[in-house]
Amino acid sequence: MLTFNNRTALVTGAGRGIGKAIAETLARHGVTVICVSKSADSCGATAAAIIASGGKAKALAVDVADGAAIAKASEELLKEFPTIDILVNNAGITRDGLLFRMSETDWNDVLTTNLTSCFHWTKLIGRPMTRARWGRIVNMASVSGVMGNAGQANYSAAKAGMIGLTKTLAREFAGRSVTVNAVAPGFIKTDMTTDFVNNPEASARILEAVPLKRFGEAADIANLTTYLCSEEAGYITGQVFNVDGGMAM
Ligand code: NAP
Repeated sequence: MLTFNNRTALVTGAGRGIGKAIAETLARHGVTVICVSKSADSCGATAAAIIASGGKAKALAVDVADGAAIAKASEELLKEFPTIDILVNNAGITRDGLLFRMSETDWNDVLTTNLTSCFHWTKLIGRPMTRARWGRIVNMASVSGVMGNAGQANYSAAKAGMIGLTKTLAREFAGRSVTVNAVAPGFIKTDMTTDFVNNPEASARILEAVPLKRFGEAADIANLTTYLCSEEAGYITGQVFNVDGGMAM
């Protein structure tokens, strides 16, 4: 069992997939989890499931592509919770297409939702965290940000940006015992990958590049993320962890 001393976490994209698994795993370790997603229904369902299992959670619908909405939500949360000790920047979208066919809207939507959101959340939640001199930040990157992926110029740029942001903030916050790490999932079975996973030709093509020859589960990402948020991971910062069945060796 990992050690969490009654910590409070904010997990974005906690309504479904990887974020939901992270929220539930942290809650099983006694962490109070603020579950953020775009729709009130999805974060509400995650928070309700945590509470029904005896955990502590709060649901909050915030569009992370809207910096003003993040500022308003943070201000209200910091009145309710004296410190938010753990921040998991996990919300993300894809708008895939080859570069010559990619619209500026698709470029901007992915950069704003996946990368600029981390800038806003970390600036607002990170300030009291550094003042408290303990914190854990985990940014959900991707194998696309590590290796590149044809058809994902916007997404891989955003995810590579998260890796740079992670390394810089790890250096900026280290003196305050706030660690900042990135997790880079490969192909994980969630709503985001349903189209590939359920298409036999596409999944066979993808699995050729995966040495472990299977798709990952949301729990594979949640387990590592939970460890990185624990007391035990206090000497790990500025790192990128590939959880991808061996794709990016
Ligand atoms: P998912 O199943 O599509 O879930 C995405 C979550 O993000 C949802 O809860 C969604 O909210 C939330 N979200 C999206 N846009 C948002 C916005 N503007 N404001 C607030 N919340 C928003 O995705 P996933 O597969 O779990 O992916 C989670 C993270 O892992 C993403 O950053 C993704 O890029 C990364 N990742 C995933 C894979 C993979 O194979 N699945 C691989 C590498 C990296 P609603 O529920 O309200 O829609």
